[in-house]
Amino acid sequence: MNLLLFKKFPFFETFHLDGGRVVRAEIRLNRGGRNMRMRMSRDHQSVIITVPRFIDMSAIKKFVAGNGAWLDRNYNIAKNVVAFAPGAIIPILGFTTLLEISPPRTKLQFIRCDDGGDYQARLIIPSSEINFAEKTRVALRKMSLQKAHELVDAFAPKLNRIPAKVAVRDTKSRWGSCNSKGDLMFAWRLIFAPEAVFKEVVAHELAHLKEMNHSRAFYAELERIMPDYKKYKDWLKHNGRGLHLIG
Ligand SMILES: [Zn+2]
Repeated sequence: MNLLLFKKFPFFETFHLDGGRVVRAEIRLNRGGRNMRMRMSRDHQSVIITVPRFIDMSAIKKFVAGNGAWLDRNYNIAKNVVAFAPGAIIPILGFTTLLEISPPRTKLQFIRCDDGGDYQARLIIPSSEINFAEKTRVALRKMSLQKAHELVDAFAPKLNRIPAKVAVRDTKSRWGSCNSKGDLMFAWRLIFAPEAVFKEVVAHELAHLKEMNHSRAFYAELERIMPDYKKYKDWLKHNGRGLHLIG
């Protein structure tokens, strides 16, 4: 008796796992495929599971339960969903940062505070209540561009290459890119990552000014200018999606 044969795909199911975890899932048909695959929904509040047609619900539940570590990691990312509002705490370059509002036309300030409180920095944004989210985005984009320039300037002498242009953009799929004209582009959301992570992306794109490929020579160059780059590349691989959930 196969329960799924009578289901119309896609459908929704809620799994109650041992230990009390509740997982909401959208079940889709994996046409022709034999394996089950799971990914997070866009808002990180549920999972999407693709399944072969001939499988029953208990097997899907077992599959979900067997991926506890994956679920932990991804639901932790979900906790990062935070809107730009006065009083919100967001990560900036590795510092937990309190967002504050100040009257329009005052000065934008980023202040470190190492007094062991709930946050390590304050970002004070001149804004009216109504524009706060937009002003915060603009301020962070600006900070991101400044940081990109600063990191490029620090690395460029080691490579003896100077980029034609440095820009930040709102990209979903790539953290950095480099074109044949020597323009470097970075995702502005790298500002939410620890600084060394931002640095790794900059080093990677700068190394492309010497080696326009991912050859052994390219990685040798990258390793020469940033010996521990792999650690930060991994960080981005595991945490990168979370950076899209802020603001
Ligand atoms: Zn590359």
